[in-house]
Amino acid sequence: MKVFNTMTRQKEEFVTINQGKVNMYVCGPTVYDYFHIGNARTFLVFDTIRRYLEYRGYEVKFIQNFTDIDDKMINRANREEISVKELGDRFIQEYYKDADNLNVKRATVNPRATEFMDEIINFVKDLVDEGYAYEVDGDVYFSTKEFKEYGKLSGQSIEDLQAGARISIDERKKDPMDFAVWKSKKPGEPAWKSPWGMGRPGWHIECSCMANKILGETIDIHGGGIDLVFPHHENEIAQSEARNGKVFSKYWMHSAYLNINNKKMSKSLNNFFTAREILQRYDADVVRLFMLSAHYRTPLNFSAELLESAKASNERLYNAVSNLERLLEEVKVESLMESERDYIKNLDSYKEKFIEKMDDDFNTADAISVIFDLVKDINTNISVNSSKKLVEYVLDLIRDLGTPLGILQKSTVYDLEEEIETLIEERQKARKDKDWSLADKIRDDLKARGIVLEDTPQGVRWKKVN
Ligand code: AMP
Ligand code: ZN
Repeated sequence: MKVFNTMTRQKEEFVTINQGKVNMYVCGPTVYDYFHIGNARTFLVFDTIRRYLEYRGYEVKFIQNFTDIDDKMINRANREEISVKELGDRFIQEYYKDADNLNVKRATVNPRATEFMDEIINFVKDLVDEGYAYEVDGDVYFSTKEFKEYGKLSGQSIEDLQAGARISIDERKKDPMDFAVWKSKKPGEPAWKSPWGMGRPGWHIECSCMANKILGETIDIHGGGIDLVFPHHENEIAQSEARNGKVFSKYWMHSAYLNINNKKMSKSLNNFFTAREILQRYDADVVRLFMLSAHYRTPLNFSAELLESAKASNERLYNAVSNLERLLEEVKVESLMESERDYIKNLDSYKEKFIEKMDDDFNTADAISVIFDLVKDINTNISVNSSKKLVEYVLDLIRDLGTPLGILQKSTVYDLEEEIETLIEERQKARKDKDWSLADKIRDDLKARGIVLEDTPQGVRWKKVN
């Protein structure tokens, strides 16, 4: 398996520290609000990477933190006149609701920064004792020039970084590139007792500390969105490797940004959607199919048209599944027929191709194409004359390939019926309300999916036509 490593800027053979095991840490959300679809891309990408590693037989420890103390948390908590803890509790619950609805597997652990305060303080103490950090008036800064490899992840030399630094506002820092690992308490801020007085940790230190505490000094994969390469991950490396004298992570993986209508999403432009808003309109399978239709290192544009096209793709896949499920009820031959043996071998080649694509740095875009090729093949070659064994085999194969992508896991027959019944009720209500255009739209949409409604004296009936 090949993985692109941001550190070396190339695809490398994936070899874990302990055979068969993967320890990975992904930077998670700051829990001051609902997460947006940009965040969702990063969460879905790493969820898929984790699922695929499991699919390939690795035992994966997947850690994703909650940043529950920082400026954004403090500002919102103060605005709402609640404690930072209450704000964090609330948006962690909201995170789980949305992530569960996106079919994101729960992490092995979701550590919260505020629950690791003793460990964080000890980590900072070690850095001060070893001369990598210094205190000024209750603040503690990491001394970047003490860590000779500073800049190695983002590929910048200390000199370049200094030349580019326009942030030398803080006169008390020894060097403009130095960054805070501990911040002294300011009025209205929550604070913890430390050897440098009351204060709170900087952002970068929480990840260094929690990764170390939960997974050990060297981990297999560290990930996050591309914006985290500098300074967040650069600073994590400096802190962890200075303290432990060991490589922090073997592989550094970063997912590209999700833009909206070809523009960067931002709060000030007000051009973003929360994941929740999108999930109200689209099924998780559709959102995942859309997000995984591009390679994770390629920027992806979010638009209504692209989501609609993902929706149509998803329907094509589920139609195939529901046809197969119907065939299970209709086929006449139970066991595999002699003439089907070669065909099964042919089907296995799709799985081999799928694995080949995913093994190549998680190429989900090409892997999804393989699933579509498979569906096309079975749509033409599986029929009521196939054996039950073969239909079962094909269904298992589709579900199997969907597992690492987190799609195609739903039971379709039941869902389809329920969905149609709900739409029929909506149409009846529209007709009662004399909303003829809505009633017609529901009927036409169903027709486009091959479902025809018949108004009979006994009520509305539906049938599927091909
Ligand atoms: P935050 O809550 O802002 O710290 O972000 C949580 C995660 O989402 C980080 O890994 C970010 O890199 C990632 N992220 C933020 N915005 C985007 C975006 N537009 N596209 C993809 N990932 C993003
Ligand atoms: Zn982090």
